[in-house]
Amino acid sequence: MQARQFKPLQIGSVSVDRCVEFEGDFFPPARMFPLSTPEAVDAERSWMEPHFIKPKSDGGRLQAGLFAYVIRTGKHVILVDTCVGNDKPRQFTPAWNMKQTTWLSDLAAMGVPAEAVTHVLCTHLHVDHVGWNTRLENGRWAPTFPNARYIFHKTEYEYWESTRDGVGSDGCFDDSVLPVVEAGKADLVKSDYAIDDTMWLEPSPGHTPGHIFINLKNGGQSALFTGDSFHHPVQVAYPEWSSFACTDKEQSAATRQKTVERLCDTDTYMLGAHFAAPTAGRVRRNGGRWKLEV
Ligand SMILES: [Zn+2]
Repeated sequence: MQARQFKPLQIGSVSVDRCVEFEGDFFPPARMFPLSTPEAVDAERSWMEPHFIKPKSDGGRLQAGLFAYVIRTGKHVILVDTCVGNDKPRQFTPAWNMKQTTWLSDLAAMGVPAEAVTHVLCTHLHVDHVGWNTRLENGRWAPTFPNARYIFHKTEYEYWESTRDGVGSDGCFDDSVLPVVEAGKADLVKSDYAIDDTMWLEPSPGHTPGHIFINLKNGGQSALFTGDSFHHPVQVAYPEWSSFACTDKEQSAATRQKTVERLCDTDTYMLGAHFAAPTAGRVRRNGGRWKLEV
């Protein structure tokens, strides 16, 4: 069976696309999810292969992506999470150090020049979710999207303002978050923030203290952007598996458990920040557990 491509979703009159920075092998499960076992991963292969995990004959690795969601409502052009970015010194993940990709011109080729973006939403302020918030201009970090409001959750912002560095940040607060605030382009918002009655936030703490979900509803259809509460669809089956990068592993597990129960057997699309193509899926009961059906 061939892995499927991502097809832009239509939620009522709103389109949801992806601008991809990377897609391919993910961290090995044992590193990403300390509670995982190879047997438990293998038990879920049937619904994950070949898109979310490669068959064992093809290396067997979990698959993931780095991408921004590109949401066009007719009135607004909204990005959700902005990948790793170019030219940024990163010491913890060598593949992310001084990255050079065509992501920004790829976005323009999708019909979205930087000037057209009206909102940038970050589910949280980890290094792989804020990178394209800024770009290098004459030796300084400048907001990439000159006409956008950048929406950061206040709790999340304050946490990283006081923590500054560490594995999850790797310098990104100073080069990809703070320059946006200093340019006067950021709104530090609470959990009840809404762009309009089509898109609104929801608290989903655990992965990070101010992690947010983003709800999208239009024309009787709905989607939930779940950020890194779920790094990989295998966590739909095992909500108890927090990642090594979760700030509060118990709270993160509780958020996932609540989310799979709420989405189970509904028509709402679940859109993780790193789910490999075809990316969009719906949560379905699967024996005593759950699966993401694409
Ligand atoms: Zn991430």
